[in-house]
Amino acid sequence: MLKINYIKSLLVILTMLVMVISGIQFYNHRHYKLPIVAGKGVKKVEMLSKYCANLKGTAADTKVFYLEGKEKGGKTLLIANTHSNEPASILSALIFIENCRVEKGTLIIIPQFNNSGSRNTKPGDGYPLFFKILTEWGAKKFRMGNRNAAPLDQWPDPDVYVHYPDRQLLSYLDVRNTNRTWPGRPNGPLMEQVTYAAMELMRQENIDVAIDIHGAETMFPVTNCIVAPDKSMRIATMASLTVKAREGFENHVEPSPMNFRGLSHREIGDFSENTKPFLLEAPLPFLDQPTGPKTEDLLLNGKDPFLLSLAKQKKLFVPYDKSGWPMKKRVGQHCSVIQEIINQFSARNPDKSIILQGVPRYKQVVEEGVGHFYHDPQKTDKKNIYYN
Ligand SMILES: [Zn+2]
Repeated sequence: MLKINYIKSLLVILTMLVMVISGIQFYNHRHYKLPIVAGKGVKKVEMLSKYCANLKGTAADTKVFYLEGKEKGGKTLLIANTHSNEPASILSALIFIENCRVEKGTLIIIPQFNNSGSRNTKPGDGYPLFFKILTEWGAKKFRMGNRNAAPLDQWPDPDVYVHYPDRQLLSYLDVRNTNRTWPGRPNGPLMEQVTYAAMELMRQENIDVAIDIHGAETMFPVTNCIVAPDKSMRIATMASLTVKAREGFENHVEPSPMNFRGLSHREIGDFSENTKPFLLEAPLPFLDQPTGPKTEDLLLNGKDPFLLSLAKQKKLFVPYDKSGWPMKKRVGQHCSVIQEIINQFSARNPDKSIILQGVPRYKQVVEEGVGHFYHDPQKTDKKNIYYN
């Protein structure tokens, strides 16, 4: 009897120990503040709740960076971390925030669109909590987030998400997925408020081009591509052809489906007068299911023996060899495709052209690495550092 009680007490203590240790790790992840260095091009930083008052004070509110040229022109919005487990998006957005100088027009950037998702994780899949990008001054540490917002921040979780306003039935998880809750409403579930605020930003600021940056599995057909509805198709096609001809990488165009609701590349165009939406996907082997452990190394380098064997059987939708899909290639692609979409828009709309300087293209990011373009927060004036 004494022995059984002893074993029971030991099990209770062990369970509590595991809970305390993992609780501390989750707490540190949720509360880690990422320093974002605002470069010379940033003229002001506001909160997204400016466009939807209900967001104020919630875990979903997030920072918006405004880069403005001396000369008036067109306006572009970049949205990153719609899915916070697709980190090439925020890494690209930070390269623009830290380095871009706008000569003409306006560039608005939301680096952590699903702020709650960036503080959530996927324990069932054993995601790493953080990842680091090496720079010349040390390692820059990022939270590794999840695809969806945390249920801690948006509750209740319905069994089925009834999309607003189409009433299409979507998976219960999609009520926390900011690429299913477009166009949103000001008093809907929290993630609908996030997308509604972004819609209001686009309507109030007269955004011409909206680019939502993502990553996708190598086994998923909609990967390594630009997704565009009819109104953006010509620009997307020209951008895709130009990067292939001039920079040598593939990035095909996928049409935005008419009947699949809630996605940015569908609803932004349908619910705004003048905004042309684009969604960028770069290959992300980390998200494929048949891989080895979900390590930081797999996230950053995309090298996996199981995917290599599947590539030999022609089961992947992207070229894949021993070199994997390193982060610098994915971020380089995003940097080039974003700039090319803006160039193509500007060529067709000279009165609304947007001219950017200081942002690297594909080749330069691949040669110098992603970390080369980040500045040391220790050596930056504190007033130019924003925590998100
Ligand atoms: Zn995504």
